[in-house]
Amino acid sequence: MEKIPFVDLKIQYQNLKTEIDSAIASVIADTAFIGGSSNKYVNQFEKDFAQYLKVEHVISCANGTDSLEILLEAFQISKNDEVIVPALSWISTSEAVGRAGATPVFVDVCPDTLLMDINLIEEKITAKTRAIIPVHLYGNALDMESIIRLAKKHNLIVIEDCAQSHGAKYNNKLTGTFGHAASFSFYPGKNLGAYGDAGSMVTNDKTIADKCRMIANHGQLKKHHHQMEGRNSRLDGIHAAILSVKLKYLDVWNDKRKDAATKYASILQHAGIQLPVENVNASHVYHLFVIQQENRDELIQKLSNNNIEFAIHYPTPLPLMEAYSTRGFTSNDFPVAAKACNQILSLPMFPEISDLQIKRIAAIICD
Ligand SMILES: *Cc1c(COP(=O)(O)O)cnc(C)c1O
Repeated sequence: MEKIPFVDLKIQYQNLKTEIDSAIASVIADTAFIGGSSNKYVNQFEKDFAQYLKVEHVISCANGTDSLEILLEAFQISKNDEVIVPALSWISTSEAVGRAGATPVFVDVCPDTLLMDINLIEEKITAKTRAIIPVHLYGNALDMESIIRLAKKHNLIVIEDCAQSHGAKYNNKLTGTFGHAASFSFYPGKNLGAYGDAGSMVTNDKTIADKCRMIANHGQLKKHHHQMEGRNSRLDGIHAAILSVKLKYLDVWNDKRKDAATKYASILQHAGIQLPVENVNASHVYHLFVIQQENRDELIQKLSNNNIEFAIHYPTPLPLMEAYSTRGFTSNDFPVAAKACNQILSLPMFPEISDLQIKRIAAIICD
């Protein structure tokens, strides 16, 4: 039986081969390899993405994790500070906080959407809390209006983690445009992906934008004028050129992901599994299509036997990872995330997934 991949990046490349090959060839012909103020491909992508999001500043960098770290540094979050993060996410979200020297404070998630439970944030706020990093997990948008209201009340910085939510909206407004700043990853498998590691910070705050640019480029805004010790985190010309090509298709691809989600849901609605729940007022872009079932092992066996790839995002809540063992958390501290981690399963999802593939997957699940 033919394999159904979890993500198929080959079809997308085949469909855009002429455009992408010529974009890459231009970068090589211009030897515009390394990012920086003189790289026209990097400048162009930053402009393109700023226009797409309707934000003032896009500052590209080497990957999404760096963008979180650089933003935290730009906001001067460090030792003795606490930052609120969801208990369920990719580790970059909390890792960046720890790398800044601050303490990630984990908040449990909602049982239906698996997004950070906004009602549990306030009880975690202390005198040390400086920021919240909301994660639009799986491409579903958090209620950013409530989060901003809460942040204003407690004078907190909001850095949106949009690594999984390119193009997702809350109340018709794009994720990444609500907070003081946002972080994007362009890892190849994300809804907007480069052909290697890539990321960006976005903000409407010029001071923060300049700081980010400085930190990401060895502490300089002008060549050889190092105002501080920064780091090297640049977007390569090749990735920038590829991203500019792919950005034009992001909305079309997201619509196809939504169509695929609708098709999955229509066949699976009576299959006795918990389907993904779109948050109220959210436009979900289905970076991942995550179902939940109590007896996951049987499902895993069926998919494996039928050559259907799947994944688990994520098998362990962040606070229960070994990295945080010294904090002494138990699953009772995050009951919803702990339970969900044993039930969740991500089905194949990509814009080009065919009706036939969806039908085959759904039929096996219903069987
Ligand atoms: C992918 C991801 C990141 C990190 O992005 P990289 O580009 O891989 O460093 C951060 N947060 C979330 C939620 C992610 O899914």
